[in-house]
Amino acid sequence: MDMRRRPPKPPSPHSATSKSPAAPRASDALPLPLFLTNGIFFTLFFSVAYFLLHRWREKIRSSVPLHVLTLSELAAVLSLIASFIYLLGFFGIDFVQSFISKSDGEIDEDRAIHCSSIPDSIIPKPENPPNLPEDEEEIINRVVSGEIPSYSLESKLGDCFKAAKIRREALQRQTGRSVEGLPLEGFDYEAILGQCCEMPVGYVQIPVGIAGPLLLNGREYSVPMATTEGCLVASTNRGCKAIYASGGAVCVLLRDGMTRAPVVRFSSAKRASELKFFLEDPLNFDTLSVVFNKSSRFARLQDIKCAIAGKNLYIRFRCSTGDAMGMNMVSKGVQNVLDYLHNEFPDMDVIGISGNFCSDKKPAAVNWIEGRGKSVVCEAVLSGDVVAKILKTTVPALVELNMLKNLTGSAIAGALGGFNAHAANIVSAVFLATGQDPAQNVESSHCITMMEAVNDGKDLHISVTMPSIEVGTVGGGTQLASQSACLNLLGVKGASKESPGSNSQLLAAVVAGSVLAGELSLMSAIAAGQLVKSHMKYNRSSRDITRLGS
Ligand code: ADP
Repeated sequence: MDMRRRPPKPPSPHSATSKSPAAPRASDALPLPLFLTNGIFFTLFFSVAYFLLHRWREKIRSSVPLHVLTLSELAAVLSLIASFIYLLGFFGIDFVQSFISKSDGEIDEDRAIHCSSIPDSIIPKPENPPNLPEDEEEIINRVVSGEIPSYSLESKLGDCFKAAKIRREALQRQTGRSVEGLPLEGFDYEAILGQCCEMPVGYVQIPVGIAGPLLLNGREYSVPMATTEGCLVASTNRGCKAIYASGGAVCVLLRDGMTRAPVVRFSSAKRASELKFFLEDPLNFDTLSVVFNKSSRFARLQDIKCAIAGKNLYIRFRCSTGDAMGMNMVSKGVQNVLDYLHNEFPDMDVIGISGNFCSDKKPAAVNWIEGRGKSVVCEAVLSGDVVAKILKTTVPALVELNMLKNLTGSAIAGALGGFNAHAANIVSAVFLATGQDPAQNVESSHCITMMEAVNDGKDLHISVTMPSIEVGTVGGGTQLASQSACLNLLGVKGASKESPGSNSQLLAAVVAGSVLAGELSLMSAIAAGQLVKSHMKYNRSSRDITRLGS
């Protein structure tokens, strides 16, 4: 029996306010009304008991052995046993249940009735039931019973914290599993309503470490990284130190445009081609831009690229989105254009606003080649001295390792955008700290790391080229208190008033600069054969923190 399944309830217009109907009981299955059945068994039990006692006394008086039974006595014994079993089954479980209910101090009347028809061993109970006010207790029970949908708690209660608290308790009771350790308090649940997360029951804590200063384009940044991977922050920090000692890194923004590609269908490939030619005709671009840009004062259509598969057309729109990561913005613009196109191409059948040629949150060559979000390249030149003193390796060792691992090794593995050592590690950690969409780590981590010996082989030129870093400093999780604090630390919190888009572009540059630092450090550790040693030091918990510093 699946205890998570809620008992089916007919939908009722008054379900939010009416009292919960009683849950079905085993007695519902009886052919006669309950009081009549109970009455019959009671009467039977006491009358046969009386009869047997009477017979027993007579036998003792007349010295007849007790085990010698007549037919009527045998029938009486069987009736006694049957009625006893019935009465024990009916009242016994309720009796035991009432004890459990009392000792729990938890289960309300509705629940006790419900439990009476279910074996006690499978009734889920929270491990440490809290003492809740009566009104909350009632709502929890109604959520557990399915009378109040869990998702509607915020709107019903008008209090997001209370909604999360009740949902959490209902969850524990439904699953019979504790979520102790998942914090509930200390979080602004109003801030995520309708924007970041539905049906919250708490929040996960991820430690934030700081790597830096990262010297990038002449400015210093302290980079917040949210991670539970030991070594990561320390390693990135070491890379930052090497970059700093070498005069810093330089990052260039190559392109900035978010994409969305709907799929539309025609009755023939010829008609699909006609729309392709229409969309790619420079003469139509201005009209399409005006229609597209109505979606937001920050959305500016940049280009349209089409791909055909038979009579299906995939239209990849690209637009600038200011400081927003831009998925909502670009989708609204695309919808405007599709509505407009219906006038020119009434036979166009819009199959989906996203046809995966966009391509969002999936590894895809189109992002690797064409770019998505911010396309950047970041470089630094490290002296052989720095490589030796800080990174504990040599320029030729790094260059060779990069060629055989990041380039050849990845080619052999059939990598798509994965020509790097661990860009995803740094991207994810900065994404989590700054409120980015972590799923976009997929394409945002596309990176090719290049290393070359320069200045007569004495120094190292390193670069990371990242064509699709998808970041924003407004919208989504960026407005939450912790994430916003991390953006503030980088000086890119919210929308840039002077130059819309510059905050998100700077954030992309910081991501690339941090990846550069991370690549340097990890590659050096591998080149020097230190990888396992350093992981043993930072990934294996040691209560003696003085040992970590050694
Ligand atoms: P996304 O498109 O990344 O999903 P949202 O639509 O959630 O982002 O957030 C963008 C919102 O922020 C839009 O309503 C936009 O008008 C507003 N906004 C304010 N300032 C800016 C800015 N500088 N750049 C982009 N959007 C901005």
